[in-house]
Amino acid sequence: MNTPYEIPDLHYQFGETEQHLFPTVLFGKNDIVLVDCGYPGSLFLLEEQLCAHAIDPGALTKLVLTHQDDDHIGAAAEWKERCPDLQILASCAEAPYPSGDRKDLRLQQGEALQPQLPEEQRTFGEQSCERYRNLNTISVAFLLRDGDRFDWGDGCEIIATPGHTPSHISIRSLDNEYMITGDAAVLEGRQPAIANPEFCLDQKEAQHPLERIA
Ligand SMILES: [Zn+2]
Repeated sequence: MNTPYEIPDLHYQFGETEQHLFPTVLFGKNDIVLVDCGYPGSLFLLEEQLCAHAIDPGALTKLVLTHQDDDHIGAAAEWKERCPDLQILASCAEAPYPSGDRKDLRLQQGEALQPQLPEEQRTFGEQSCERYRNLNTISVAFLLRDGDRFDWGDGCEIIATPGHTPSHISIRSLDNEYMITGDAAVLEGRQPAIANPEFCLDQKEAQHPLERIA
C-alpha cells in the first residue's frame, strides 16, 4: 500500500434525499483498520467500495467505532459475521451502547422527543426509534482511551471529542496529514464547527473539542 489511508464513499438514497458517508480505512504494519461502517445493511455496499479501492474486505483486522449512531455502527455486526476475527474497538464509555448493555442514547433522545413532535413528524420519529431498537448488538473487544497511539495511517492518536455523544472519539494523524472527526466536527471554510448541532447531545461540551481539532 502506498497511501496511509483510503476513504470509501457510501452512497445512500432515501426517497428524494441523497446521503454520503465516508468510513475510512487506515493501514498499519499488521492491521487494516476500518473506522466506522455505515447503516445496517451496508456490508455489501462497503465491500464493493473497498474492492474499488483495491482493499480485500476479508483482510480487515479492526473496526473502530467513533460513536454509537447507527450510520457509524449499523453494519458492525454484519462485519463481525463476515470477518469473525475482526476486533471491534470503541472508547471505554461508548462501548456499553453498541453491545446493548446500555440503552442507546440516540434512542433515549428520540423517545423523549417523540411526544413533543408535531403530528406530521411522529411517524418519522417512531421509525427512527424503531431502527435503533432493531440494531444488532456487537461486543467491543478493545477499549480506546484519549492519547492511545497506533501505527495505523503512518501513526495516529485517539483523541476524546465529546459532545455529539458523551464519549465520541476522533483520530488524528501524528504528522497532521489527516483527521477523522466522525460527527464531532465539520469544516466551515477552514474552521472546524459542530456537525449537525441538532443531533448534538451536549452542544456546550461539543465546543471544547473544536479548539483541539483546530
Ligand atoms: Zn453521529
